[in-house]
Amino acid sequence: MRLQKYLAMANVASRRASEKIITDGRVKVNGKIVTELGTKVTDGDEVEVDGKKVQLEKKKYYIMLNKPSGYVTTASDEFGRNTVLDLLGDVNGRIYPVGRLDADTEGLLILTNDGDFAYTLSHPKHNVEKVYHAYVNGVPDRFALSKLENGVIIDGVRTRKAKADVIEVGKNSSVVEIKIKEGRNRQVRKMLEAVGHRVMHLQRVAISTVTLGNLPLGKWRHLNDAEIKILV
Ligand code: URA
Repeated sequence: MRLQKYLAMANVASRRASEKIITDGRVKVNGKIVTELGTKVTDGDEVEVDGKKVQLEKKKYYIMLNKPSGYVTTASDEFGRNTVLDLLGDVNGRIYPVGRLDADTEGLLILTNDGDFAYTLSHPKHNVEKVYHAYVNGVPDRFALSKLENGVIIDGVRTRKAKADVIEVGKNSSVVEIKIKEGRNRQVRKMLEAVGHRVMHLQRVAISTVTLGNLPLGKWRHLNDAEIKILV
């Protein structure tokens, strides 16, 4: 974009006043004074006014995706597998997932380009509760549920307090709703395995009170302001 537009968009001054700032020789691009109006600048250029760096405000994106099974939660995969970013289509900006879901887990994944938001949401001290529906073999009894709630040992370390309920009972299977505030590797699968129930299918349905709602599998949408507030 033209240098005067860049300065105006970065709130240095109005377009007209920015032109004067340029012709007065107060602007440097990549370390060199530029006085010619209409000089083009792009993202990678370093622009300074009176020796101070000037940057365009980056548009922030906050997205929820209903992740299908078979997609890895990384920006790129060394084995060439599909990544969750492949599902975002033409969203601009360097968006990345907050936290991880296993390739074989479905459900709510948040993506953003806002580093502070990602840090807050994923930091254990913020205690954000994540809600999963685990489709397991058998039906956990109240002893199993109580163990899940009070902590089981996985990978040599006890899990923190959790909530667990059976919300659906089938013939030889059931659905367990489990709420945890940690995010250890394959935690829900390992917790249920530890009380004798294999997870056949796992879905994350909510983070805090932000829920997937009726977002179809494989689709995404922008979070609204209320949802963003809930998460930080
Ligand atoms: N727990 C798991 O076991 N897998 C996930 O993807 C998320 C939580």
